[in-house]
Amino acid sequence: MKNLEYKNKKLQFSKTDIASVAKNNKTPFYLYSEEILVKNYQDFYQGAVNANLINPLVCFALKSNPNKELVKILAKMGSGADIVSGGELKRAMECGIPAEKIVFSGVGKTEEEILYALKVSKGKLCSFNIESLEELELINSCAKRTKTVARICFRLNPVVKPKTHKYISTGNKTHKFGLLEKDVLSFLKEKKYWSHSKLVGLSIHIGSQLLDLKATKKAIAKMCDIALKTQAPLEFIDVGGGLGVDYHPSETKRMPSIEEYMTLVYKTLHKEFYSKSDLRPRVVFEPGRRIIAKAGILVMRVLRNKISEDNHFVIVDGGMNDFMRPSLYGAYHGVTPVQEAKATTRVHVVGPICETSDCFGSDRPLPALKSGDLVILEDTGAYGYSMGSNYNLRGRPLELLIQKNQKLKTVNKAQDYKELL
Ligand SMILES: *Cc1c(COP(=O)(O)O)cnc(C)c1O
Repeated sequence: MKNLEYKNKKLQFSKTDIASVAKNNKTPFYLYSEEILVKNYQDFYQGAVNANLINPLVCFALKSNPNKELVKILAKMGSGADIVSGGELKRAMECGIPAEKIVFSGVGKTEEEILYALKVSKGKLCSFNIESLEELELINSCAKRTKTVARICFRLNPVVKPKTHKYISTGNKTHKFGLLEKDVLSFLKEKKYWSHSKLVGLSIHIGSQLLDLKATKKAIAKMCDIALKTQAPLEFIDVGGGLGVDYHPSETKRMPSIEEYMTLVYKTLHKEFYSKSDLRPRVVFEPGRRIIAKAGILVMRVLRNKISEDNHFVIVDGGMNDFMRPSLYGAYHGVTPVQEAKATTRVHVVGPICETSDCFGSDRPLPALKSGDLVILEDTGAYGYSMGSNYNLRGRPLELLIQKNQKLKTVNKAQDYKELL
């Protein structure tokens, strides 16, 4: 089954008629599918198992979508979490993800967040993925004060250049992320940083929306090489997230399948680590987008048309405050009318925000659309609601979930003026 399909000229998402959902709910709203989410997680996890990876742990990157109900669904399936703030840690644990399955990433963890993490996890957090010497120093001192031992993982900077948008590329020297090999090896020798810290893993995360796996392979090989050099009894090797999805039809052919990806991870680990060591660290993954992007759409209504000579604008009621990726990264997302009709013109689909970048698509072939017609923005489950804001003092949109039994559930109410102002 395709996630999006016309039936009697009416667009369905995950077998649900979008127009009927919009009849009873104010646009714009996010619509998620439990069935797709569950399938994506299971395909990913099962893919790792099928590739013979040892005891894999899939840590869902909460920043891609921290909605409570969605995280609870993932928690029930055994998912862990990759978190980047105290707020995300609290959310993950409240949704049922145990501390043992949570990795804490990010270059700017505060003292308050570190103390909070040590306290609520009772020192059991899977790891603090650390990014600098000063951070290690601070974590060690926080652990000392709270009489615990912090579990530490070094996030490596493997010095690779993945082919992706420069704003979502993170694995090179000029980026603020990760530690260089020589620094990792020298930190390990400094006994004073290790009185209340223990090295349990190594990690990488070289960027997002990766469709070409050459840099991934190189980065994993580099991590294995450093892992052997540390001579530490590592419990896990964390290969990060970033696996891409096909937002644009031209990306479908280039998008690696889960099987290809897992095979590459297995073969690289085998060649570069397992064949040279008796240690068998488990493999940790940190996917966000690949699990949730395709499990959500943004439903919007056309407000009106505006024609300025050659430029035809279709103004919709959703804006860059609801969904930011096109304005932030120039990201492509399909715009699809809910009522099927032949494309007759090329239009710019824009939101109401007072910014020129508030544009969901330029020169898109679309049928004539009039006030009140519905359109959807595709593949908006990841980095959608979570990147949203109240810019222009607009309330945050409603989030709805199509449950497995096809019943609709409100998983987050729209913000009204009372809440907003
Ligand atoms: C953002 C992020 C991820 C998830 O990236 P996706 O592209 O959504 O898979 C994983 N790990 C870290 C450290 C991140 O910052």
